[in-house]
Amino acid sequence: MDEQQTPAPAGQGDPETWPCDWLTRGTRPTGDPDEPYYEGIFECGAPSRMRPDGTGYDCEAGHEHTYAQARQAAGWEYAEDDDEAGRLAKLGVEPRTITGQVWPR
Ligand SMILES: [Zn+2]
Repeated sequence: MDEQQTPAPAGQGDPETWPCDWLTRGTRPTGDPDEPYYEGIFECGAPSRMRPDGTGYDCEAGHEHTYAQARQAAGWEYAEDDDEAGRLAKLGVEPRTITGQVWPR
């Protein structure tokens, strides 16, 4: 592996993408030989792209966001926990997790 060949930063040269701002837990290299890795919460940073149909956007790491209007039109809504998922289901709205998966029952 040639260390010069690191990938270009997210969004570089492509005005259609921007760094994903989802917060994820992970480790990052610090460049400090005494403490080479730092563990904590980081912005995802993967390139995000608007969907061609304009209903939302997705990042290359699999995070997705669908706009409220598009969610309503499609008959689903994000749920944060089982209680909320249950409430949505009672209203005839399909509960989904933050990653857009149908809520597991
Ligand atoms: Zn992301």
